[in-house]
Amino acid sequence: MAVPPNVNPADFEAALSLWRSAVGADWVFTAAEDVALYRDAYSPYWAEPEERLASAAVAPATLEQVQAVVRTANRYRIPLYAISTGRNLAYGGSAPALSGSVVLDLKRMNRVLEVNERNAYALVEPGVSYFDLYDHITKAGLDVWIDAPDPGWGSLIGNALDGGGGWTASPFRDHFGSHCGMEVVLADGEVVRTGMGALPNAKSWQHYKWGHGPWVDGLFRQGNMGIVTKMGFYLMPRPEAYISGTVQVYREEDVVALLDTLNLLENQHVVNGSTALYYGDLENIYGSVRDQATPGTPAWSLVLPIYGPEKVIRAQLEYARDKFARVPGMRFVEGELLRTPLTAEAQKRVHQVNFGIPILAIFSMLGRSPANPAPAGGHIGFSPVIPRTGESVLEYQRYYRENMAAMSAGKETGIVGPVFLTNWERSMVALMMFPIGRDKASNSRMRLAFARWVTKAAEHGWAEYRAPTPFQDLVAQTYSFNNHALLHLCETIKDAVDPNGILSPGRYGVWPKHLRKG
Ligand SMILES: Cc1cc2nc3c(=O)[nH]c(=O)nc-3n(C[C@H](O)[C@H](O)[C@H](O)COP(=O)(O)OP(=O)(O)OC[C@H]3O[C@@H](n4cnc5c(N)ncnc54)[C@H](O)[C@@H]3O)c2cc1C
Repeated sequence: MAVPPNVNPADFEAALSLWRSAVGADWVFTAAEDVALYRDAYSPYWAEPEERLASAAVAPATLEQVQAVVRTANRYRIPLYAISTGRNLAYGGSAPALSGSVVLDLKRMNRVLEVNERNAYALVEPGVSYFDLYDHITKAGLDVWIDAPDPGWGSLIGNALDGGGGWTASPFRDHFGSHCGMEVVLADGEVVRTGMGALPNAKSWQHYKWGHGPWVDGLFRQGNMGIVTKMGFYLMPRPEAYISGTVQVYREEDVVALLDTLNLLENQHVVNGSTALYYGDLENIYGSVRDQATPGTPAWSLVLPIYGPEKVIRAQLEYARDKFARVPGMRFVEGELLRTPLTAEAQKRVHQVNFGIPILAIFSMLGRSPANPAPAGGHIGFSPVIPRTGESVLEYQRYYRENMAAMSAGKETGIVGPVFLTNWERSMVALMMFPIGRDKASNSRMRLAFARWVTKAAEHGWAEYRAPTPFQDLVAQTYSFNNHALLHLCETIKDAVDPNGILSPGRYGVWPKHLRKG
């Protein structure tokens, strides 16, 4: 049995025994085949010494059990790594940031505590997946939508805490941004409720997120200051209808006017859906190739989904069309109007995630296909945030082409991108995906390439908003303004709230004092 770093085996045995009494022997896992389930299937270090591995796992079912587990860990200084559903594929899976940590698996805490249709919110525990909440809402016949990421098997809490996002309307797509109120267990076992939840008889915990005084919720997003045991989320009242339009322009430089117009429409809240910018024609989802040989192929295509009452969205689309008409030579194609709830036939035609329905179809898109006969099996995402301007897109494209040619030398095949994601309001993510599989030599090349992209992008003033666990230190180091002042502030807070450094050490580059390097 593996033992956590800096913990003596007798102490670990004592802790395991206390955990067994707290949560039941069946829910403390030390056997190799059980612990192996917490490996990151997309680890870029798969089966190499640097792969991040857990030593054990413990799965409490209640808040009180979480407190008991944490108190024991704090007493014996055992690092814990909390996960909700642990499906963080492409960003670390359910494996810890520090090898040897004990995974605190919160899947069993899977109660939907409240869904309030009138005020459109939900309060859930960490183990509640998007599928669970969707089932709950559907069975209860409530008229609210959820916003799921592409794979619906993850959890609202885990996804939000990792900075995840989805595909319906703004503001619901930003999962942390649309949360309201948390319950958190701190390293000493204390329970804190944030926002209005700090009132003992709170009546508006999920109605007003800011509460009174400093807002601390941000410490738990991509953080390691506490274990979240409840979280509120805004839900979207079912929009009556959906319409989309597609704008196409034929000169590369017209992306400038295209995005300026889009920004205006989004900032005016005229366009509220998850827009998509394609280089070339619509089917080119990976955005990096334009078929310049075919006459009349657009340089850029932009899809504009709008949700709301039918009359209103028709007017919004018309207004958008008028605004885009100022872009010389543009072509505007109005899409189909769909009324909700969707008919069974319509459901088959649409990407259901855009309609609040969680699915797993994304995995078939990335699986074996005639276009991709030998998929690596997994990938890691490089997600730098760039300004939402056409000039930035053109600059990023130039940078991508130059660096791909210089960096790959024909070896780093299979890197896909850049996909210009406009689902975060006011910014853009130039996503690239690096294939990861079981071939150590290829994984090693991908790691090197990934690290080079992180460093080179930072030289241009672009950095990632989210990173796979093995690269979180590197990315944190790029946020180095004023001698890493931001990281130092996080470390100071970490030392104060978790002096023994037991909660997810190293997550997003924040290490406790005794594990800090240099
Ligand atoms: C093909 C593909 C498509 C994807 N598409 C999307 C997408 O559209 N949008 C998107 O956002 N992601 C996407 N992902 C990434 C990822 O799979 C999802 O974000 C997934 O929802 C995260 O897993 P989870 O919800 O189980 O979170 P978890 O794995 O449970 O949590 C993520 C991390 O948050 C922390 N954490 C979790 N719970 C707690 C807690 N209770 N207290 C303290 N810390 C906690 C831990 O550090 C944990 O590692 C995609 C991945 C793949 C492979």
